[in-house]
Amino acid sequence: MTEIAKQGSVAAAKEEVIEKAIKEESYVPSKEIRDLWKKVHSAMRGEFGEAVFRSWLKPLTLRACYHGALEVSVPTRFMRDWIQTHYAGRILEMCVEKDPNIKRFEVVVVQNAILADDESGEQSKKLKANENKKEEDPYNLSSPFDPRFSFEAFVVGKPNALAHAAARRVVESQNVPFNPLFLYGGVGLGKTHLMHAIGWAMKQHWPERRVMYMSAEKFMYQFVKALRTKDTMGFKDTFRSVDVLMIDDIQFMSGKESTQEEFFHTFNALVDLNKQIIISADKSPSDLLGLEERLRSRLAWGLVADIHPSTYELRLGIVQSKREQLQADIPDAVLEFLALKVTSNIRELEGALNRIVAHAEVAKQKVTLETTQEVLVDLLRAHDRRITIDEIQRKVAEHYNIRMADMHSPRRARNVARPRQVAMYLAKQLTARSLPEIGRKFGGRDHTTVMHAVRKIEELMEEDAQIAQDVEITRRALTG
Ligand code: ADP
Ligand code: MG
Repeated sequence: MTEIAKQGSVAAAKEEVIEKAIKEESYVPSKEIRDLWKKVHSAMRGEFGEAVFRSWLKPLTLRACYHGALEVSVPTRFMRDWIQTHYAGRILEMCVEKDPNIKRFEVVVVQNAILADDESGEQSKKLKANENKKEEDPYNLSSPFDPRFSFEAFVVGKPNALAHAAARRVVESQNVPFNPLFLYGGVGLGKTHLMHAIGWAMKQHWPERRVMYMSAEKFMYQFVKALRTKDTMGFKDTFRSVDVLMIDDIQFMSGKESTQEEFFHTFNALVDLNKQIIISADKSPSDLLGLEERLRSRLAWGLVADIHPSTYELRLGIVQSKREQLQADIPDAVLEFLALKVTSNIRELEGALNRIVAHAEVAKQKVTLETTQEVLVDLLRAHDRRITIDEIQRKVAEHYNIRMADMHSPRRARNVARPRQVAMYLAKQLTARSLPEIGRKFGGRDHTTVMHAVRKIEELMEEDAQIAQDVEITRRALTG
């Protein structure tokens, strides 16, 4: 046998031993390779930055080096895929710079890996804990969907048409149509309902997709819990292995910087993997205070769909559909009354309807306009109180196409004086403010000026159909 052949066969035998050892997981890489890896590993910190290093690269554990392949292990499949697509190329280059014999860089999943540099066994323990939890279905973390919140039960109108269409698109698309879908609107306007509807429909259309839904508060809670139990790896993996992630009421994350940071990374990870993200908030991304700028701008990347305050038509549609669901005997006039009066949000509107139905059942009475007014007296009063002089001024100015400043200015030209009187009249009608208080709000006018305005408008409404209509339109805009 020649020297070379001998060396070759010795090498081959050695490889064989190594491979066998790897299978049995007892292989310890040579001192040179371990030193090389140590250098490369710590160089990654400078190369990719502290945050990436801590999130993804720190857990990389040298496993073997054979056939020119440097093999490292990670605890989860998700991490492996992520590292392969994002960092493996550069890491290989870094290894080759130190040892040109290295030809490949491989990442394998080893769930109970004993991590290098883990004298205390701390990380191994964590991984063991992870592994036990591995069987935990991500669905378990997801909050359940309310059966009432389906697409079928969602009444579509102008104020929510865009949000609804976008939600449908997300469900019906093979791919991710926009990312994220950002739904925003005031309280009780149907954001949560739409998200649950997406959840239900996803289960139906794409049963294989993993959908996770939770409030931002729960996300924060889970994150803090993970920190406390030192299980952030499991946390990351659970969240980052879903196909559709929905986080409700993200405004609650404001100010919680570490959670935002974590969410930001999760967000980017999922977007990069082309997974669908759906976010809701009570404000637009640009108005969300206390959110870090980069997170805010990311949130505005996809489709931002706002749900506007409801219109009379939409509210009527909703109470009609609700009547059908309840199979309750409610006169149309009552529904119209509710749609006209309970304008704050849909939740309150539903609450009002439920109350009158419950009252009718208990009192063994039919639902009528009278019983409705009686039952809802506090709610209606509270609602009336909510209209402010500011709002009235703005609406009237809008209607007459004059400037808001004209409400306060001393100008007496008819084209601004008349609208100002209309606004004073409505302020008297729709708020509990006294005449002097109203006067003050109109550029410090005397209460007699206000009184005069109220009388004048009352008069004019009798004789001038145009004025009567103007007043009616603005009153409706303000109350219903
Ligand atoms: P948000 O999350 O925006 O605060 P929700 O989704 O919880 O509001 O909605 C409040 C209530 O109003 C829910 O009971 C919901 O079913 C109902 N609702 C809101 N919008 C609609 C709609 N367009 N059609 C039917 N019900 C609606
Ligand atoms: Mg909600």
